[in-house]
Amino acid sequence: PKPIRSAYLISKANFVACHQFVFLQRFDVLKPLVEGGTFLLNSPYPPEEVWDHLPRRVQEQLIEKKARFFVIDGYKVAKETGMGQRINTIMQTCFFAISGILPREEAIAKIKEAIRKTYGKRGEAIVQKNFAAVDAALDHLHEVKLPERATSTIEIPPTVSPKAPEFVQKVVAPIIRGEGDSLPVSAFPPDGTFPTGTAAWEKRNIALEVPVWDEQLCIQCGKCVLVCPHAVIRSKVYDPALLKDAPPTFKHAPAKWKEFKDKVYTLQVAVEDCTGCAVCVEVCPVKDKKDPSRKALNMAPQIPLRETERANWEFFLSIPDNDRTQLNPALVKDSQLLQPLFEFSGACAGCGETPYVKLLTQLFGDRLIIGNATGCSSIYGGNLPTTPYTVDREGRGPAWNNSLFEDAAEFAFGLRLAVDQHTQFARDLLKKLAGKIGEALVDALLNADQSTEAGIQQQRERVKLLKQRLQELDDPVARRLLDVADYLVKKSVWAIGGDGWAYDIGYGGLDHVLSTNRNINLLVLDTEVYSNTGGQMSKATPLGAVAKFAAAGKPTGKKDLGMMAMQYGHVYVGRVAMGYNDAHTIKTFLEAEAHEGPSIIIAYCHCIAHGYDLRYGFEQQKAAVESGHFALYRYNPNLIQLGKNPFQLDSKPPKLPFEKYAYNETRFTMLTRFDPERAKKLLEQAQHNIRMRFRLYQHIAAMSLEDQEQKEEAKVEEEKHA
Ligand code: SF4
Ligand code: SF4
Ligand code: SF4
Repeated sequence: PKPIRSAYLISKANFVACHQFVFLQRFDVLKPLVEGGTFLLNSPYPPEEVWDHLPRRVQEQLIEKKARFFVIDGYKVAKETGMGQRINTIMQTCFFAISGILPREEAIAKIKEAIRKTYGKRGEAIVQKNFAAVDAALDHLHEVKLPERATSTIEIPPTVSPKAPEFVQKVVAPIIRGEGDSLPVSAFPPDGTFPTGTAAWEKRNIALEVPVWDEQLCIQCGKCVLVCPHAVIRSKVYDPALLKDAPPTFKHAPAKWKEFKDKVYTLQVAVEDCTGCAVCVEVCPVKDKKDPSRKALNMAPQIPLRETERANWEFFLSIPDNDRTQLNPALVKDSQLLQPLFEFSGACAGCGETPYVKLLTQLFGDRLIIGNATGCSSIYGGNLPTTPYTVDREGRGPAWNNSLFEDAAEFAFGLRLAVDQHTQFARDLLKKLAGKIGEALVDALLNADQSTEAGIQQQRERVKLLKQRLQELDDPVARRLLDVADYLVKKSVWAIGGDGWAYDIGYGGLDHVLSTNRNINLLVLDTEVYSNTGGQMSKATPLGAVAKFAAAGKPTGKKDLGMMAMQYGHVYVGRVAMGYNDAHTIKTFLEAEAHEGPSIIIAYCHCIAHGYDLRYGFEQQKAAVESGHFALYRYNPNLIQLGKNPFQLDSKPPKLPFEKYAYNETRFTMLTRFDPERAKKLLEQAQHNIRMRFRLYQHIAAMSLEDQEQKEEAKVEEEKHA
């Protein structure tokens, strides 16, 4: 046989494997299976029970096609062999064991050979775990004898809820089902714009386990809501009278806010959108004193909870969102009552980037205008078929755009210029029409203080009134002002991208934008590697880490992008790590946005490319800061006018050896296995660099702003007159 070197869309398959049981309800998995073909299913149900859990259509297809049917509980095997939730080796072993492509023994030997080749660098323990998974897979693989008739009453549900908008039913749903090729070109919007908020209609049901809230233990701190990478766990404070229509299992507790004394609080999980990453459980600070293994959030199997929690989530959505003007966004618990306008993205389970993006939408809501660099944040931000950016109850949401990898800063800068131009145009027209609109309203619109949520809300009301008055005028200038009136409400323009964009490929443009005095914000999601393209080294990659193009460990240190930006003097700079100090992250976001000039935030993000279980991502963020590897600081030029040092060092001196942080991650430990001597040398060098850099930060933070020369001259003058 000759090797196949091309990719084909397979329409007739002798072998079909389904690695997620839930896919049976979402896709026509068995359509391509030929008569007499083999079907392998990863099933949470044992072989003697699985038949009763199959949808009727699947049973009928298996019987019609006279298929051979095999099952394995891949996740159980993975758990028992220490593979976590990784089932690829297990399912691959089953494929070779039953497909007959190679003699069984030969196939198993080749799989083990491939495992050693792929994971050898990651250590013997990982190789052995994979070997154990291969052996256990064979022990847990069972053939199921097909009954003569289909007996199931389970029907395949529609891809999206019948309540979904027409576009979602007609365009998004077929793409979700994998039938996008069948859509005519005319089904798509001709200008490329796609409706937002469509991710909410795709119920992926991928979590095996989901968090369950213990309302008695919870202190309502909001930390779990803040860190959830998928905006799946939400909180609201509301009037208890609303509970009269609540489903029987809907949970609530008296609100622990002194401002909301008579209200109740609910923490609700959208279990069908949860990825089961357990990040929320890990950050929950509350343990049950009677049973310290339990927290205020605990993971439990999803399937038994699916129906009741679906109803609870629906009810939760019907509760009004909290009034933004009543909350103090600088407080973590208040900020997490704000509706996220970025939800259910397809980012990896436990992703370290998305909590920052979600926070941005909570803090600045529909006023956000984003120019996104290509990379992970553009893929999960606007990938077909669904869009996670969404709208509030008024139908307003962030405007999100993606241009190229390299030009996000310039692209967002262009958006800023356009916003400024429109705003100025609106202000000019306002002045022209002042006599017709009313001097008082025009004056209030032109001089509005929009530095707080309450101020912004008042301006929105004024704009509403303005629009009413303009509609009553038969005047072409009034019609032009109607088009741009919304620009009288302050906009918040951001460029978002990863370190590949900001440190490397887009650095020239980023630097140019920082050199201007426009009010633009740049958010760098720093995973210290090109995550989306498979883990290539960037200038943010730390010394000693192994990445593509740094196979022997990166020999040079991480570029200090923050310090470089600071040199301009007028740029607001912040380095944040949510896992070390969440309040600091929020404060930095608010300060950056309030700064009337360019600002840059560099946010530490854990990532699958680092090589550890992302459940512990926020703990590892803490270690990154405590080791001094990612010290936190802010440079706020506005402090200069107050006579203060603009540089603030926000993390404590390193108390954790760099090794204790780095060697939790495979990207560092890899090197210790194939070149231990070099690994040791790089580790020592990294530790030395950390000490030196922290001293530099301490030195800058301790600097006095007073001009020594001026001080001495003043002293001489004083002495002269004495
Ligand atoms: S398990 Fe993960 S996705 Fe699910 S609610 Fe918790 S943090 Fe969010
Ligand atoms: S982190 Fe724990 S204590 Fe805090 S709100 Fe969530 S469940 Fe409650
Ligand atoms: S590769 Fe990393 S940054 Fe990208 S979605 Fe996955 S975890 Fe997030």
